[in-house]
Amino acid sequence: MGTWIELTNFMCPACPDKKGSDWVCAVDAGSVFINEEGIMECQSQTHTGPVINWKWNCGSDYHNGEFLQTDFEGFSFAMSQAVQLTNRAGSEWVAILLHNVGKQYGK
Ligand SMILES: [Zn+2]
Ligand SMILES: [Zn+2]
Repeated sequence: MGTWIELTNFMCPACPDKKGSDWVCAVDAGSVFINEEGIMECQSQTHTGPVINWKWNCGSDYHNGEFLQTDFEGFSFAMSQAVQLTNRAGSEWVAILLHNVGKQYGK
């Protein structure tokens, strides 16, 4: 279902520190993937959900240990900066992803 792209060198979309990170699942430390439908999933496929429900923690002081949800603007900005990721995925994949994530946020 969809094309899964690993979330590497992807800045934190949920805080102003915008720290880049290779994201791993908080529960089992597996790599995290996203597809163009706006679904997140960890390597083991155990933990999955739409972007709107996913919680992020880049480890910066801003989080104070908390996992935070992103808004559409934060996610779009992080995606716009993720050049390596978008090169791997292709511009069509990115356009479909932003459309589907926008729908999750009612945009
Ligand atoms: Zn997991
Ligand atoms: Zn952060």
